[in-house]
Amino acid sequence: MRLAPLAILALAAALSALAAPRAAQAAPTLAFPLACEIGRTCEIQHYVDRDPGPGLLDYRCGHRVEDKHDGVDIRLLDMVAQRAGVDVLAAAPGRVIAIRDGVPDISIRAPGAPSTEGHHCGNRVAIALGDAWILDYCHLAEGSLKVRVGDTVGVGQPLAHVGLSGDTEFPHLHFSVRHANQVVDPFAPSSLEGCEAQAGSLWTPEAARQMTYKRGVVLNTGFAAALVGQGAIENRTTLPASPDAPALVAYARLIGLEQGDVIDMSILGPDGKVISKGALPPLNHDKDEFPAQLGHKRPAQGWARGVYLATLQVRRAGQVVISQRWQATL
Ligand SMILES: [Zn+2]
Repeated sequence: MRLAPLAILALAAALSALAAPRAAQAAPTLAFPLACEIGRTCEIQHYVDRDPGPGLLDYRCGHRVEDKHDGVDIRLLDMVAQRAGVDVLAAAPGRVIAIRDGVPDISIRAPGAPSTEGHHCGNRVAIALGDAWILDYCHLAEGSLKVRVGDTVGVGQPLAHVGLSGDTEFPHLHFSVRHANQVVDPFAPSSLEGCEAQAGSLWTPEAARQMTYKRGVVLNTGFAAALVGQGAIENRTTLPASPDAPALVAYARLIGLEQGDVIDMSILGPDGKVISKGALPPLNHDKDEFPAQLGHKRPAQGWARGVYLATLQVRRAGQVVISQRWQATL
C-alpha cells in the first residue's frame, strides 16, 4: 500500500509521539550510590576516561581517570571505614540481573594476593533499568550482598558494603552505567569523548551537588610522631604526636594530582612562628595518590604545649588548586 505524503507525515508524527516518552523514560536519574558524604567520609577517585586513545581525560578536562576507565570510583578514606561497613545504595530502581560474591577483600598490591583474572569487578551487583540500561556496582565486600538475582530494588536500597574485592588497591565502589551495551558517562551522558561543557548529567541535583568536581583532593591529614606509611593511614595506626615525641610530622594523602603540580607545606608552632617549611619540586607525572609529609626533630627544650598548625597548598599552572589546613594540640 502506498501512503499519500500527508499520511506519511501524519504517521511519522504519531510514531515520534510514541517514541518521545519512551526515550525520556529510558534515561535514568541517578541518586548518589553510597551511604557516605563526599568531602567528609568519601571522595571521587576516578571518572570515566573520555580520551579514545592512550591519553587521560575526564569530563571536566582534567586527568582524574585511569586509561579506558569506564565508570566512577568513589573511595572511602581508609580501610577502617571499610571494615566498619558502608552501604552501597541503588542509584535507581530496577531488577537485579547478576551478582557475584566470594571474592576476597584483598588489595592487588598485598603480598600473595590472588589473581583477579576474569573477575576484575570483584563482588558485583548488576541492575537492569528497563531493557536497555544497566548499572553495575563493583568491588563489593565479600559476604555483604543483600540482594539476589531477580530481586526488584528501589532507589536508595542497600545492596552491599563497599569492599576491596577484585582489581583494586583501595576500598571503593566502581559504579558504571551502560545503555544498549555502550558505556555512558553519568556526568556527561550525551557523548563519550572530549570534555566540552555539556549540560544534563544523569545525577539528581542532590547527587550532583555532592559530587561537585574537584581538581585534586586531600584525602587524609594528621600529625604524627614519626614519618607515616600508607598502611598506617589506612589502618589509623600512626604514632600520635605528643609533647615528648622525638619528632613532629604533618602528613597528608592527596589524590588527583597532575604532572607539574607543586606542593608547599609548613608547620607553625603555638606562637604562630614557622617551625618547618618546604616545597616539593614539580611532580614529574600525574599522581593518582600522593603522600606529602613535613617534619621536624624535637627541639632540645621539648615541644611547647599548644596548638600546632599545618598548611598545604598545591599549585597548578600558577593557580592554587588545593589549600588545606589542619591542627593538633600538644
Ligand atoms: Zn573503577
